[in-house]
Amino acid sequence: MPDPQKDKSCWTCAFHDLDNDTFLGRCTYFKTKGLPPKEIPPQIVDVGCKLYQPKQS
Ligand code: SF4
Repeated sequence: MPDPQKDKSCWTCAFHDLDNDTFLGRCTYFKTKGLPPKEIPPQIVDVGCKLYQPKQS
């Protein structure tokens, strides 16, 4: 069973934007820096990155 406390994948990240143009969505973290959102690479999407922030529910 996936442990929500340990799941730091892009899927549960506040910066994840699952838009309709990309398969895996985009990371909007870069928007907070005034940069365009970046497409998330397949090797990152399930593991996340050090910028992970949990989604507010
Ligand atoms: S790349 Fe990092 S900051 Fe961006 S959505 Fe994934 S975990 Fe979140």
